[in-house]
Amino acid sequence: MEISEFKDLHIAIVGGGYGGAAAAIALKSIGAENVHVYEQAPAFGQVGAGIGLRPTTVELFRQWGIFDRIAAVSAPSDHLRILSDDGAHLLAREEWPMLHGYAQTNHTRIIHRGDFIEALFGALPEQMVHTDHKLTSITDNGAQSTLTFENGRTVTADLVIAADGIRSLVRQQLFSAKPPVFAGEHAYRTVISIDDAFGLVTDDNPRFYVARNGTVAYTLPLRHRNEVSYDITTRSDDDSWAPVITNESLVAVLEGFDQRVIDVARTLDITKVTSRSVYDIDPVDVWHSESVTLLGDSAHAMLHHQGQGANSAIQDAGALADALLAADSIPAALEQFQAVRKPVTDELQRLSRLGWTPESAETAFPEQTPAR
Ligand SMILES: Cc1cc2nc3c(=O)[nH]c(=O)nc-3n(C[C@H](O)[C@H](O)[C@H](O)COP(=O)(O)OP(=O)(O)OC[C@H]3O[C@@H](n4cnc5c(N)ncnc54)[C@H](O)[C@@H]3O)c2cc1C
Repeated sequence: MEISEFKDLHIAIVGGGYGGAAAAIALKSIGAENVHVYEQAPAFGQVGAGIGLRPTTVELFRQWGIFDRIAAVSAPSDHLRILSDDGAHLLAREEWPMLHGYAQTNHTRIIHRGDFIEALFGALPEQMVHTDHKLTSITDNGAQSTLTFENGRTVTADLVIAADGIRSLVRQQLFSAKPPVFAGEHAYRTVISIDDAFGLVTDDNPRFYVARNGTVAYTLPLRHRNEVSYDITTRSDDDSWAPVITNESLVAVLEGFDQRVIDVARTLDITKVTSRSVYDIDPVDVWHSESVTLLGDSAHAMLHHQGQGANSAIQDAGALADALLAADSIPAALEQFQAVRKPVTDELQRLSRLGWTPESAETAFPEQTPAR
């Protein structure tokens, strides 16, 4: 489509997470002006923990003109290490894929989730962003769709981008009623001062400590904040939304781990730890209609083992903008968007379900290996 064709199209984005924010930035960067993000929460926020933004994602930030904004609040990493749980054996030390794949070196950027969402929304004009807008229903009328919000407002848009997360209302109403799938795992995440990390942080690169029973403890250094994100994933049959944990219960799941990893669990402020049961979704056959598309976790929520969920949501945003430029209509663009992205995210969903064991840790990046 020509820029003049979508400049004034009314584009409504449901959900102000990474996917929704990135979609708004990507569309703005190609000339769309009538774009609005509707978020249910009264403010934008993310739990306190770190995240790794891969080189391919970072290249999109350069394209969208927001690289400096992201770089200012993140630290560069060139590789990650996988170690045995006791730290005695280095199982893999791998450079991030595509680190040198672009005109400029794109390090993976380790960033605090809160800083990241703030940096993304800081790149958007205030009038594009609407908090306190909880979507309660969507009516797909073909060439347009109508959104109804809990606050009584209705909005009719030429294109609706549903970036409303793993429990997406839009997915349930229009594309798939299947509920999220419990992984039999818990994720515990917090951020601590490097001064309280018992010497675990020696450089800017993540370390994953992997046990035979599937428990993984990992550190993502946020050296620009003198902090480190400390995360534990462990098996559990308890599927409550926010499982109750104590320092003692964390120490118990870390039996046999590097003493420094255990010492952090023993001493951290448990009230600052986010504890969640872990879910993903089965692949969704069709992501779009003529005027509505899913994007990010709403389309393909995956387990966090490959660290690819947020990266995928952002890469979706880039692919959707490319498809709108290349196709001659919105329905054709949405079809192309799904054709480009779904094979990639189907594979990441599959790989993420394999989890981690010391044996499988010979590569941290199985997505580079062709599927067998
Ligand atoms: C433990 C853990 C670690 C992870 N680590 C990584 C990592 O290292 N790297 C990585 O790439 N990914 C990681 N992920 C995955 C990543 O967090 C998600 O994939 C990513 O946040 C998805 O972004 P999203 O914008 O699609 O969805 P979300 O972040 O879920 O955002 C959805 C937004 O929509 C809003 N919303 C929902 N319903 C409505 C409604 N009805 N009306 C209006 N608004 C609505 C929500 O409030 C929310 O703001 C991890 C996930 C977990 C659980």
